[in-house]
Amino acid sequence: MDFDYPPEAEELRRELRPWLDANLTERLRGARWANANDPNHPDVAVLREWNAKLADAGYAAIAWPEEYGGRGAGVMEQVVLAEEMSRADAPGTLNPIGISNIAPAIMQHGTEAQKRRILPRMLRGDDIWCQGFSEPDAGSDLASLRTSAVRDGDDYVVNGQKVWNTLGHLANWCELLVRTDDSAPRHQGISCLLVDMTLPGVDVRPLVTITGEREFNEIFFTDARVPTSCLLGPENEGWRVAMTTLAHERGNVANLHLGLRKKIAGLLELARSTTIGGRPASQDPVLRQRLAGVYLQGELLKLLSERALSAALHGREMGPESSVAKLTWSQAEQQLAEVAAEVLGPTADSAEWGRDLVYSRSFTIAGGTTQVNKNIIAQRILGLPR
Ligand SMILES: Cc1cc2nc3c(=O)[nH]c(=O)nc-3n(C[C@H](O)[C@H](O)[C@H](O)COP(=O)(O)OP(=O)(O)OC[C@H]3O[C@@H](n4cnc5c(N)ncnc54)[C@H](O)[C@@H]3O)c2cc1C
Repeated sequence: MDFDYPPEAEELRRELRPWLDANLTERLRGARWANANDPNHPDVAVLREWNAKLADAGYAAIAWPEEYGGRGAGVMEQVVLAEEMSRADAPGTLNPIGISNIAPAIMQHGTEAQKRRILPRMLRGDDIWCQGFSEPDAGSDLASLRTSAVRDGDDYVVNGQKVWNTLGHLANWCELLVRTDDSAPRHQGISCLLVDMTLPGVDVRPLVTITGEREFNEIFFTDARVPTSCLLGPENEGWRVAMTTLAHERGNVANLHLGLRKKIAGLLELARSTTIGGRPASQDPVLRQRLAGVYLQGELLKLLSERALSAALHGREMGPESSVAKLTWSQAEQQLAEVAAEVLGPTADSAEWGRDLVYSRSFTIAGGTTQVNKNIIAQRILGLPR
């Protein structure tokens, strides 16, 4: 590791620990982000309140500039915040997509009026944001999106369909990619609109997943009139806005190891306390190998995260290495869930481990599919032909 925690990061740690001790109640620790999939679940109100508390204390988005309610914190302070929140079992913000991915795009491409109107409400969780990018025929190949926005006076008239919108059922705002010029080359006819989801003509329909949760949604637009003042960046330059948003989504890989390694510690504990064939599962020779494999994956991901941090601290782009981290993380999460199922045997399909076993299949797809990431690694790291 060619970097250290600077004094300001350790200072933040010293400040944060007593704050978390004082403010993090058992009720909050028990609030599950997955429960927020049901808008009427009591956890939603609890998480909303927590979000506002984080914002008031200046912890909801420490990387944001001070003028928008952040602290202008550096990379290592962000790492410390993630470490301490994970250590304390604190739930994150209710607005993760908005704060991590959409806000940086608004800061980079938005007008001053948009920033002042949108960011403070986003920070406190008063507005929840979702990302309307994917369509039934535009996922990995996002530039083939067809949802259209046609200018009519001071409005765009939007028609089309989006899909797989995480948080769409809770969100009242959406960062929406639309086609504004059909005749331009694919990447040049796209614009980005900031859409009030309560407008007439915007219809959100939940998609129930294999785990029985309502995390995803389809959003249908039928002659929805979106004011032109809601255009983010110039018309037909939405692709650049989308790339800013996705770059920040991928930038989050540096903290992925925290959640994974915590789960691995839980799995090792489970293996020690579960008996198979008259002895702890952790002493079964075959399972031991599998457990060691998962443990090593977690440590590998930590090293990849440190590499990403080193790049950020030394002013290097992380680039295609984020694909290696994403791939390692998704494979490790899936192996972890499979090994947990082997440890649990006939009860494998119950409770959180059972949910993880099913849910972890989605990690192959979310945030760039395995095949697309392998293509990136093959071409941009290994130098193989397209
Ligand atoms: C947990 C989760 C959260 C998500 N949240 C959001 C969200 O909030 N907002 C949003 O807009 N979208 C969201 N998505 C959608 C996600 O971005 C898309 O699912 C993803 O881009 C893949 O698109 P697709 O599902 O259309 O699959 P496709 O792109 O149709 O891919 C189908 C298969 O073909 C393979 N494939 C595609 N292209 C290539 C290629 N060039 N070479 C080799 N193989 C290829 C893929 O790997 C995959 O196996 C989410 C998805 C998941 C799983």
